[in-house]
Amino acid sequence: MRPAFSAALAKAVKTHLLSGAEIVTLLQAGGREAEALFRAADEVRARHLGDTVHLRAIIEFSNHCVRNCLYCGLRRNNRRLPRYQMAPEEIFVAAARARAEGYRTIVLQSGEDPRYQAAELAGLVRRLKTELNVTVTLSLGDLPRASYRELRAAGAGRYLLKHETADPVLFARLRPETRLPGRLERLTWLRELGYQVGAGNIVGLPGQTLRALAADVLLLKRFAVDMAGIGPFISHPDTPLAGCASGSLELTLKVLAVTRLLLPRTHLPATTAVGVLHPEGRARALRCGANVIMSDLTPTPYRRYYEIYPGRTRSVVEGRGSFAWWQEELAHLGRKVGKGPGRP
Ligand code: SAM
Ligand code: SF4
Repeated sequence: MRPAFSAALAKAVKTHLLSGAEIVTLLQAGGREAEALFRAADEVRARHLGDTVHLRAIIEFSNHCVRNCLYCGLRRNNRRLPRYQMAPEEIFVAAARARAEGYRTIVLQSGEDPRYQAAELAGLVRRLKTELNVTVTLSLGDLPRASYRELRAAGAGRYLLKHETADPVLFARLRPETRLPGRLERLTWLRELGYQVGAGNIVGLPGQTLRALAADVLLLKRFAVDMAGIGPFISHPDTPLAGCASGSLELTLKVLAVTRLLLPRTHLPATTAVGVLHPEGRARALRCGANVIMSDLTPTPYRRYYEIYPGRTRSVVEGRGSFAWWQEELAHLGRKVGKGPGRP
C-alpha cells in the first residue's frame, strides 16, 4: 500500500477529517487499498450506528418535470416518456399500504411538478402524520422557501435535495437554468426551517474529476448533512448524455466509504442505482458504510414510468422489495431492520 494512502486512512478513522488531496488519495485506491478502505468504512459504520438498517418506503408520485437536467430521463424535453400524476388520495393509499407492511418512514418524491401546490401537499402530509403516524421525507426539488416552510409546518420532518455535484461549472452545464449556489442556499433554508437535511451526489458524471468528487464529500461534511444519497450516473438513451459511459460501481463504493469515514453518523442509503449497476451492488454498499435502504412502493402501474435511468424496475418483475423480503435479505448479511422511524 502507498504510505500516503495508509496515512490518510488512519487519519480518517481517527479524526473524521481529511483534506481534498487526502480524499483523492483514498479515491485512487485499487486492489488491497480498496479492500482496506471498505473494511474501515464498515467498521466505522458498525461502531457508530450498529447493525441496524433503516427501511424507507419511497413513493414516486409524479414524473412530470419542468427542469431539463441533462442526465435525467424525466427531463421536460424527453417526449418519449409517458407521464403520470398520482392524485393525493392515491398517494395516501400507497402510503397506508407501506405502513401496513411495516414501513415507518414514507419518502414522497417527484419531478419538479407545479401541478402540486404546497397547500395540497401540506394537507397530504398532515393526513400521513395523523392517520398513519409515519415520518415523512420529501424530495420535490427546488421550491420557494415559503413552500418548504408550509410543508415543514404540516409535519414533514426530512427533505432530500441532492447537490448532485460540488463542481459549479459541471452543475451549470448539467442542470440548465439552475446554479449550484441556489441549490446550496436551499439546503441552508431547509436546515433553518428545522428539517433533517439530505444532500448527495452523482458519481461518474461525464467530465467529473476525482478532485470534484473530493469536493462533494467535503461539501457533505461542511453541511453536516443528516443523510447523503450517493449513487452512480447511469446513462439514459433518451437524454443528451446518451452514449456516455455510466459511473463505475467501484468508484461509487469508494466515495460512499470515504463519506462514511468523514461522517460517521450520517444516514447513507445503499441506493437503487448501485443495485442497477450490479445485482450485488446494494449488498456491497451495505458493507462499505451504508445503513439505509429505500424500497420502491410506487404503485405498479406507474413504477416503470419513473424512468430517471434505465433498469430501475427490474425489482418489480422479480417481485422483490417488500418489507418482509428486505428483512430476510438483511438477515443474510448479518444486519437487522430498524424498528422505529430512525433518528431522532
Ligand atoms: N426532482 C427532484 C430533484 O431533482 O431533486 C427529485 C427527483 S430526481 C429524479 C432524484 C434524483 O435522481 C436526483 O437527485 C439525481 O441525483 C438522480 N438522477 C437523475 N438522473 C440520474 C441518472 N441518469 N443517473 C443517476 N442518478 C440520476
Ligand atoms: Fe427533474 Fe429532478 Fe430529473 Fe432534474 S433530476 S429533470 S429536477 S426529476
